[in-house]
Amino acid sequence: MNRAWSVKHGIQQGRRGERPDEGRANADSAAARSGPNMKIRHILLLNPPGRKLYTRDYFCSKVTKAGYVEHPLDLLILSGIFSSAGFRVSVLDAQAGRQAPETAFNHIVSLRPDAVVFLSGLVSRQEDYAFLERLKKAMPRVLFAGMGDLFLKKMVFENTAWMDAVFYDFTSGECADFLAGRRGRFSTISFRDGNDIIYRAPVQDRGEFSIPVPRHDLFLNKGYTFPFARKLPFATVLTDYGCPFSCPFCVYPTLGFRLRRLQNVTEELRYIRSLGIRELFVKDQSFGADRGRSMRLCEEMRNIGGFSWTCFLRADVAREDLLRGMKAAGCHTVLFGFESGCDRILRSYKPGVNKRMIVDALRKCRRSGIKSVGIFIFGFPEDDIGTCRETADFAVRCGCDYVSFNVFVPKAGTPLRNKLMPDDSSGEKEEVLDQSGIASVWSGSPVSVEELNRLRVRAIRRFYFRPSYLFGMAAASLFSLCRLRMCLRSAFFILQDVLAKRR
Ligand code: SF4
Repeated sequence: MNRAWSVKHGIQQGRRGERPDEGRANADSAAARSGPNMKIRHILLLNPPGRKLYTRDYFCSKVTKAGYVEHPLDLLILSGIFSSAGFRVSVLDAQAGRQAPETAFNHIVSLRPDAVVFLSGLVSRQEDYAFLERLKKAMPRVLFAGMGDLFLKKMVFENTAWMDAVFYDFTSGECADFLAGRRGRFSTISFRDGNDIIYRAPVQDRGEFSIPVPRHDLFLNKGYTFPFARKLPFATVLTDYGCPFSCPFCVYPTLGFRLRRLQNVTEELRYIRSLGIRELFVKDQSFGADRGRSMRLCEEMRNIGGFSWTCFLRADVAREDLLRGMKAAGCHTVLFGFESGCDRILRSYKPGVNKRMIVDALRKCRRSGIKSVGIFIFGFPEDDIGTCRETADFAVRCGCDYVSFNVFVPKAGTPLRNKLMPDDSSGEKEEVLDQSGIASVWSGSPVSVEELNRLRVRAIRRFYFRPSYLFGMAAASLFSLCRLRMCLRSAFFILQDVLAKRR
């Protein structure tokens, strides 16, 4: 599997002992922390338990609405990288499995891993850290490496003596190299080396990449769901990394932008089909950013055949030919991050997109037979009650099939956070940040917490409880069982969102 990739990263498939000498001088520093001569053979990929259901993957953390649990993308991709490098890989997703902390704790200890690679997030930092620190005490020789949005902040190792490393790019072969014992300067990993901390030398890559095929088999039967899946089980696929656009509140442009080689993607798609999975969530943050390549990808998907899928799209790339190609390849739903219904706010936060383009994109979706989901945000720093109401009005009128309303949070690592919080630190007083608005609302929001919650709930009711909307959904469901299922799931989702207990 992907021998070329493995060779590039100095890894012989399935045989961890055979590596180039590069970096060997310091190769035992992990062993020194993990116990004399302890080699890492067994890696546990861990999505920790929590008081609420959290999404923490791909540098975005929030409380999950209505009990949906998506695949933890970082862990999924690393499952292929580590397996290909010859490690034994186990997965424990305590979120998908709804495991209580004590159950998860005992399970992890009984697995006896040599390394734990875990997700954490700004939404759950305090409880994650308490759980992981206790785990480290129980397994002091085990290496702990973290991933997630909160690690994009500076000073990530402050008050975390139990944590050995942070991985900043889950598509990088450096993660396997590090666990195999290589030391030195990495561009995607910061780590403790004795009493020293070696910080990464970040580079923002462009160009192409390949990864070993992720171990989707390890993530089957864990109960993953998401609202727009027409069939279960579904698989999550990543065909690019980062984003080429530059919305200042968003973390993805800070990761650079790389496209996965098409052959590498199709290899994974064929593997997914061989597992009997036909439903996909393509988690590229902006499908169609490279139109020609996206068209070729759609063609490849059509050739393999039988997939139905959902992806994210920007209004300004939603051209008719692209949408037609996507539809022919099985795309049934696109998620648009429209963010605001006020052109002034859009100019600041979604450069290149305006309301006219949004309405136009939705019209093209309807013509292509693709359902649309509009995602809006209340509480941008320049929002006031008036612009929030404008957003709610626009969401109801613009022509989406579904909407989702979130609240603004200053995400770690973004230009906007750096501007709003120039002396940002990772001290104990770190705010719980949740863009779903369920666990928290950012205390710097220009609109009060109560008002934001009222706006959200009112907007949801206005959109979904319109007689014309309810009638349209009921009529469409009469002719399609799958549609009926989707509508019932969505209704459950909406009611949960309206009734969700805030904080
Ligand atoms: S909001 Fe979407 S389009 Fe804008 S930078 Fe982020 S991922 Fe890219």
